[in-house]
Amino acid sequence: MKKENSPGAPVLEKYSQKRDPATTPEPEAAVKHSAGEPIFVVQRHDASRLHFDFRLEADGVLKSWAVPKGPSLNPGEKRLAVQVEDHPLDYAGFEGTIPEGNYGAGTVEVWDSGTYTPLEKHRNVTRAIEEGLLEFSLHGRKLKGRFTLVRTRMSGQDKNWLLLKNDDQYAVHRDWEADDFPSHEKMQD
Ligand code: MN
Repeated sequence: MKKENSPGAPVLEKYSQKRDPATTPEPEAAVKHSAGEPIFVVQRHDASRLHFDFRLEADGVLKSWAVPKGPSLNPGEKRLAVQVEDHPLDYAGFEGTIPEGNYGAGTVEVWDSGTYTPLEKHRNVTRAIEEGLLEFSLHGRKLKGRFTLVRTRMSGQDKNWLLLKNDDQYAVHRDWEADDFPSHEKMQD
């Protein structure tokens, strides 16, 4: 099995390799832990192709997936989530424009954020991700309740995962598209 970081590879090495701090306003690589509960963030990234970046804090970095259609609260909507390089924790607060010529050029907005709780059996989040299955609860403004990330073997690519909503009190059984909700709109309960 191919892993995101080979043993001994410096943390966030791939993140740094893709970026030149002189030409992008994105945060520089640094391993940090948030003070309280682990955080999650979803960023709307209007790059060459619009997508939503889904990130979960684990071991001082943000484990990251690009979700082309964005997350959904409808349990019937399984969303492709392509695992990408770990990002620094500071990225959770990043909004702005990545200038043309840089990796990921386009605008980034925080679409939702909050804390998350992995299921007890997945408390070691990094290991659960290596094993290809992570179940957790999100405590965001738009995204709440149980979700699952599961690695697929679609096209023989082990970076392809599915992000899906588990059926619970926060599930919505109708069309629910992330891009119908503006980044800075708070959802009402
Ligand atoms: Mn992105």
